Amino acid sequence: MTTVAVITGAGSGMGRACVDRLRDLADVLVAVDLAAPDIDGTVGVACDVSDPDAVEALAARVGGLGAFRALAHAAGISPTMGDARRVFEVDLVGTQLVLDAFEDLVVPGSAAVCFSSSAAYQFAPYIDAAQEALISDPLAAGFLDRAVAAAPDSGSAYGLAKVGVIRAAGRASVRWGRRGGRVNSVAPGLIDTPMGRQELAQQPVMQDMLAGTPLGRFGQAEEVAEAVGFLLSDLASFISGIDVLVDGGMLQGTAAASR
Ligand code: NAD
Repeated sequence: MTTVAVITGAGSGMGRACVDRLRDLADVLVAVDLAAPDIDGTVGVACDVSDPDAVEALAARVGGLGAFRALAHAAGISPTMGDARRVFEVDLVGTQLVLDAFEDLVVPGSAAVCFSSSAAYQFAPYIDAAQEALISDPLAAGFLDRAVAAAPDSGSAYGLAKVGVIRAAGRASVRWGRRGGRVNSVAPGLIDTPMGRQELAQQPVMQDMLAGTPLGRFGQAEEVAEAVGFLLSDLASFISGIDVLVDGGMLQGTAAASR
């Protein structure tokens, strides 16, 4: 049967790199972004991942194309790209919507990788029990209002939302696992994409993070796509429910610098 892999955020950065990395993984590649990406050898689909109807329509379209093999969910926005509400809406609500919508398509061998962030590790130590409870159910009524009250600036919203992405992938790994599917996430550090460059230009702390990265450079989108490709491949057939940090040692380096 024809197999299908789906890449969201395929129009730019790491999503685009995942398209190239995943070409041999499935017969059909579906490239998704706000505007339908025009990439050779892929089916381009326009979908705002924060729109429940659009995400349901995407999953239905994928189901009609063949057996669901893989999802790389790279669509997301950073703190300088939207206010706290939009950050929660795209990064966390969108991730939950996508994981839920694709769950019905899961067959043995299906796998997903979501995109968290090294920011999740920087923010996680400051999360209290109420925030943990909040992010455990991003589709609850009134979630966005309560999330913005808990993290009003877009930087903390991003950190909390990305912890939420790790949690959402973990929960989904339990549900998908019952159908023979796997779910993991990757946490990029500073990566040389339009988003990464925008954050570096607009947030002075990013310079410290770059300076603190032991490998002394930005990561490349292809280096993250390589981790995604591995996690989605059958080589990772017993790896599920984890987050893989791809940060060139940045968290270790910045922690060492502050001691
Ligand atoms: P990017 O901005 O280069 O690409 C993101 C893509 O997502 C864009 O094509 C954009 O149009 C799309 N997108 C945004 N909102 C969308 C929506 N509502 N629906 C559908 N598509 C949407 O970013 P990137 O650097 O490739 O980031 C990919 C992922 O990695 C994001 O989730 C981001 O938060 C995460 N991340 C990035 C970095 C970094 O340094 N670049 C670090 C940590 C985590």
